Amino acid sequence: MNKGKVYLVGAGPGDPKLITVRGLEALKRSDVIVFDRLAGPQLLNHARPDAERIYVGKLPDRHTMKQEEINQLLVDLALQGKTVIRLKGGDPTVFGRVGEEADLLQKNGILFEIIPGITSAIAVPAYAGIPVTHRDLASSFSVITGHESPDKLDHSIYWDKVTNATGTLVFLMGVAKIDYISEQLIKHGRSPATPVALVQWGTRAEQRTLVGTLEDIADKVKAAGLKPPAVIIVGEVVHQRETLSWIENKPLFGQRVLVTRARSQASELLARIDDLGGETYEFPVIETRLPQTEEAAEAIRNAFAQAESYDWVILTSVNGVEYFFAWLDRFEIDIRRFHKAKFAAVGPKTAEALAIRGIRADLLPESYRAESLLQSLDSLLSPGQTALLPRGDLARETLPKELKERGIAAEEIDVYETILSAPRDLWLPDMLENGEIHVITFTSSSTVVNLLEALRRLGVQNPAEALKDIEIACIGPVTARTAEENGLKVTIVPEKSTIDGLVEALVDKRRSAKGE
Ligand code: SAH
Repeated sequence: MNKGKVYLVGAGPGDPKLITVRGLEALKRSDVIVFDRLAGPQLLNHARPDAERIYVGKLPDRHTMKQEEINQLLVDLALQGKTVIRLKGGDPTVFGRVGEEADLLQKNGILFEIIPGITSAIAVPAYAGIPVTHRDLASSFSVITGHESPDKLDHSIYWDKVTNATGTLVFLMGVAKIDYISEQLIKHGRSPATPVALVQWGTRAEQRTLVGTLEDIADKVKAAGLKPPAVIIVGEVVHQRETLSWIENKPLFGQRVLVTRARSQASELLARIDDLGGETYEFPVIETRLPQTEEAAEAIRNAFAQAESYDWVILTSVNGVEYFFAWLDRFEIDIRRFHKAKFAAVGPKTAEALAIRGIRADLLPESYRAESLLQSLDSLLSPGQTALLPRGDLARETLPKELKERGIAAEEIDVYETILSAPRDLWLPDMLENGEIHVITFTSSSTVVNLLEALRRLGVQNPAEALKDIEIACIGPVTARTAEENGLKVTIVPEKSTIDGLVEALVDKRRSAKGE
């Protein structure tokens, strides 16, 4: 059997977008992912659905896997012919023990690549508005471990030299030793007034920054109960934060927002939340796909055979548009065969999806629900006309029913079907329990039902109870009603049932919670 290959990859400091392009490519192509706590679980969404995921970090019922065991695991997997990615927090060469992993691979004749990552030593200060070097304030920086026992620190760190290096000192793994570290620096000649910052969980929603001086920082850390992981920055650059702090000022900073959408649709909502400083937590609960049965295809083929006869094509969602065109393509049908039809689109996104395919909707209802489509259609429809309604299998019945009542022959075709995504994210129950999810967004009734079902499948016995302290944001009244019926307490419903409206409502809620 061919030997596999191992990619030793830096995942970045926590924000899943801070992985390199090369690292992401390796992740997408690997058969097995070996990862731990500092490499965020969200990155795994990029892995192939069938890729094996092996967590080697700490679990409540198990100790962290020993380094030697991890080294051997990588060898064993590669010897089975697998492409393996070892994801490590930050950069693998900065206190990442990549040397030991690579060494054993090399001894076993296994190919490996080391793909650097953005180390927390620079990224975490940057997210707190602290550049590690500065033209006037620091012309060098040192990255130092604080992890060793004090005796060993004395042996492996030349405190006299470190202390008097010209520039910024960055300590990793130093929270527990902050009193010892500051003591040493003062003892060897740094001024007790030297500014110090600790940044906990940098680049994540939990990011928290504490600023002090060498003299008082240890007490402040104790008083604040600040726990690892944190980066400690010592030097004048810390003051830069007063003007350069950036992400911490964004309206959704500190909020981890679980986005439950169909995988193919989440991108816009995710981008907006990200832009506003929130941390998105993608949890796809719905997948759409082409209907699988021969009957479904036949029904669509028959409808398309009469393309020339329709007076209206009414599209009620972006999915509807996309799958409608997918079927046209599959049956090799030219859209111009619908030459007689006017196009109606419910909602601006649906209209946009049509527009990029060269069709400007003839009718755009004022509000985004099927009921208002009917109102605006009323003056344009006349009995005896025919309308084609390409939609999903879960579409509501209102529209076709009322069209029929108005004497319109409405032909519905299920151009896509909705299925529950298999939950692959095993962390969510723990995160919910630990209060690490602050907001959940629901953009349709099926996202509500499916999230609750996904949680049950992940072993959460009473999902509504597990979500009781979380802000529940629903895109509109229909979704909100479903949520309430399922025992959730809905706290956010925008006036306008659009992604923009939803995002605005999230910001308003956050502002009022902060008393702004
Ligand atoms: N290879 C990693 C460092 C591993 S040592 C890197 O390059 O970043 C682990 C230490 O890194 C932690 O104790 C903490 O000091 C620091 N660290 C990693 N991620 C962090 C984060 N998101 N916020 C604060 N500190 C972090």
